[in-house]
Amino acid sequence: MVRPIPSTPLPARRRALGRMGMLVLSLGATELARGAAIVAVRVWPAADYTRVTIESDSALSARHFIAENPARLVIDVDGLDLSAELRELVGKVRADDPFIAGVRIGQYQPRVVRMVIDLKQSTKPQLFSLLPVAAYRHRMVFDLYPTEERDPLLALIQGRDQPSQQAAQAVRDALGEFIGQVDRPGAAAPDKPASGSATAKPGTAAASASAATPPEPGASSAGRVNRLVIVALDPGHGGEDPGAVGPSGLREKDVVLAVALQLRDRLNDVPGMRAMLTRDADFFVPLQDRVRKARRVQADLFVSIHADAFFTPEARGASVFALSSGAASSATARWMANRENAADLVGGINVKAKDAEVMHALLDMSTTAQIKDSLRLGSEVLGQIGRVGKLHKASVEQAGFAVLKAPDIPSILVETAFISNPEEEAKLRDERYQAQLVDALTVGIKRYFARNPALARTRGT
Ligand SMILES: [Zn+2]
Repeated sequence: MVRPIPSTPLPARRRALGRMGMLVLSLGATELARGAAIVAVRVWPAADYTRVTIESDSALSARHFIAENPARLVIDVDGLDLSAELRELVGKVRADDPFIAGVRIGQYQPRVVRMVIDLKQSTKPQLFSLLPVAAYRHRMVFDLYPTEERDPLLALIQGRDQPSQQAAQAVRDALGEFIGQVDRPGAAAPDKPASGSATAKPGTAAASASAATPPEPGASSAGRVNRLVIVALDPGHGGEDPGAVGPSGLREKDVVLAVALQLRDRLNDVPGMRAMLTRDADFFVPLQDRVRKARRVQADLFVSIHADAFFTPEARGASVFALSSGAASSATARWMANRENAADLVGGINVKAKDAEVMHALLDMSTTAQIKDSLRLGSEVLGQIGRVGKLHKASVEQAGFAVLKAPDIPSILVETAFISNPEEEAKLRDERYQAQLVDALTVGIKRYFARNPALARTRGT
């Protein structure tokens, strides 16, 4: 149950964001609510984490603890009477939810509702509140994270074409080895086992030498390093954040995921190339986590996929953005960056759980080299998209998109079309047009690597 976010004129939106920023930081002072009414309950299951959202007309407060045998999360919500809306939560848990086996709800005390969430695996819960934003009222959120974070390399190779654990392990061994090798200066030859690499994880096959050598995309020549190149694909929005919504209801988060999944399959078919997704299902990933996921697998490229929206239905055409170190290249680019950067507010992040200092450092280290490479990548991709659809601007634009700020990964954000334009919304929904877009992106990425061969990985994690 995701509702469209009403478009707000830029100045008003900016003021709203400014206010939100301050208020989100003062969440600790949330008052105990009395007689809150539940507006909606939602569950967003994913391998990374499962989110449960309880939306209400006033702020809720809750206490929680983990109980064992069997493992369960117990949450007492104050100021609440058991209602039909709340009971809906029980039926919203999917059988394949990686974390939740089931939910039980009861009136524990007068005005205290107890929710018991039976757990399937060892879980670190995070409970937090979000103030009203966009179309949402007050939200109480609990995120269930695995005690041990999902291995990004394993996630990278767990595509639909790798169903068996054994096959996954084989690719994992190869990948581990290549990443291990290329991290060691002078250790590029694929037949040499890499050992003692700073970034090869113990327990991976970085030190074994049994993998076949995938050729590098593009012609191989002297001075190049033969290794897998990794492309991080970032379908925008997801979960609580629908992104832009078209006039007939097509949601940006759905269409960009469909395009990204197809693009992953296409890139995985390119010899020597492997694609990873920052999200592979309908769940929300904070902007900083998208960058972090790409850096953890030492991605060579980062391609964020979106669909534009504007107040007027006439706006049309695809745009490609790179990061800007200073002012945005146009008012539209700045507006777009503000709109995309607001995703964390709508999707909902637990501000307290984020290390602000790390976040700041990561997001401020953007270099001119990264931007230069990003512009090259952007123009290859823009050129290809221009062959299959209209362009909004004939050149790569620049603005301060948070998701493009990995200091060491050429990064672009592709606004595939205007979902707010009825004609382009229809195209985005059309599988044939999606396939054309995927082709264009694939060719653009391949051309970038052909002209700018991937270098040895010299950076640390
Ligand atoms: Zn977007």
